[in-house]
Amino acid sequence: MGTIFTYIADDVLSNYSEAGTCAWCESNADLYTIYIDDGSGVADVACVKCIKTLPLRWIHPKDNERIIASLINTRYPRGTKSQDQRFALTVEMCDDYRRTPRLPNFIQNDDWPHCCGDFTEFVGDAGRSYLGPFDGFEWWGDENDGAIEYGIDGMIGGEDRISLFRCMHCSKRYWTFQCT
Ligand SMILES: [Zn+2]
Ligand SMILES: [Zn+2]
Repeated sequence: MGTIFTYIADDVLSNYSEAGTCAWCESNADLYTIYIDDGSGVADVACVKCIKTLPLRWIHPKDNERIIASLINTRYPRGTKSQDQRFALTVEMCDDYRRTPRLPNFIQNDDWPHCCGDFTEFVGDAGRSYLGPFDGFEWWGDENDGAIEYGIDGMIGGEDRISLFRCMHCSKRYWTFQCT
């Protein structure tokens, strides 16, 4: 689990930051890709402090946030949490997930891999910020996707990034690829 962003490994963050002036707090900082709109202006990068503290409603939702309630139900089986607790956990996970910078390669949609009732941790892009080995990664995506046939090694070197994830609760690891 990342200490800065729950769903991004700390050691790959520096590969995805750009130094600059944050449009929200005007400090010079490492900026990460995330869409924030306060109603009068939009920026597509922000510093860690602003990503963590600006009102959640300003931050652009991710496509698959609707699955969060079912992830919580998977993580905490029937009888282990009250409805109020489930609601609070769902809100908390939504906050954490939405405040995660858009670093993996989700060109088509935010199909962030999930496992064991939680989103997985982004550990880098194959051959770029993650140098392998790549065995043990399972495909995450449509079953009929041509990427499965080529595998990670066959897809490396193309113009689109291959993003890699690991479950924070079991030993599973996943790879995904979306093309432009
Ligand atoms: Zn800022
Ligand atoms: Zn798992």
